[in-house]
Order: sequence, then C-alpha cells, then structure tokens
Amino acid sequence: MKKLLLERSGGRCEYCGVQIKDAAAQIDHVDALGPDCFTNYRIACASCNGSKGKKSLEDYRQACMVQGLRSELPELGFSTAQLIWLNNQNWFPQRTSERHLFFFERSAPACVSEGERHA
Ligand SMILES: [Zn+2]
Repeated sequence: MKKLLLERSGGRCEYCGVQIKDAAAQIDHVDALGPDCFTNYRIACASCNGSKGKKSLEDYRQACMVQGLRSELPELGFSTAQLIWLNNQNWFPQRTSERHLFFFERSAPACVSEGERHA
C-alpha cells in the first residue's frame, strides 16, 4: 500500500511536498472516520501526519494557514480564533487558501516546493 501511495505522490509528502523515504513515509487517513481505501489515504511525512492528526482536510488547511500567519506576523499576537475570523473576513487576501494548497492539489510542477527553488 505504501509503495502505491508513494508512487502516486512521486515519493513526496502529499501535504507539504517534501521528499520522503520509504521508511519515513506515513499513511494518513484523510477522513479519519472514512473508509479504508486508496482514495482516503495520503502519504505524509511524520511532521504533516503528526500535525494533521484527526483533523479534516479543511481543518488542517486552516491550522496550516494560522500557523503560517503567525510565523509571518508574530508581532500581531492574534489568537488562533482571531486569525481564523480575520481570514474569513478576507483580511489576508494573498494569504488565504490559495497559498495553502496541499501538494496533491497543486498541478503545476513549477511550484512544487519553495525549498527546491532556493536549493
Ligand atoms: Zn509533509
């Protein structure tokens, strides 16, 4: 199963796009209560799998977004709830979901990963 998933993702974490080795790859259930089937599995690095936990995909996206905003704007000191609320009011137009597409949602290979571009 792991092999198939790694093949599908091109050997990358399907959330952040980082290259992962077979042994380090973890299988995430996209929908924690969903069916045990191929479409409900994502291959993930330990870090993504750990922070996603049992969150739904959209909850996880929101968590990533909040974390991103917080590291970009630490001086604001907003709480998670405030950041989510502000984002929902469209306060961060260029920081919204578009920038938080998961690896498997991005189609253009050009924007595969920030890290690679700077490497
Ligand atoms: Zn990852």
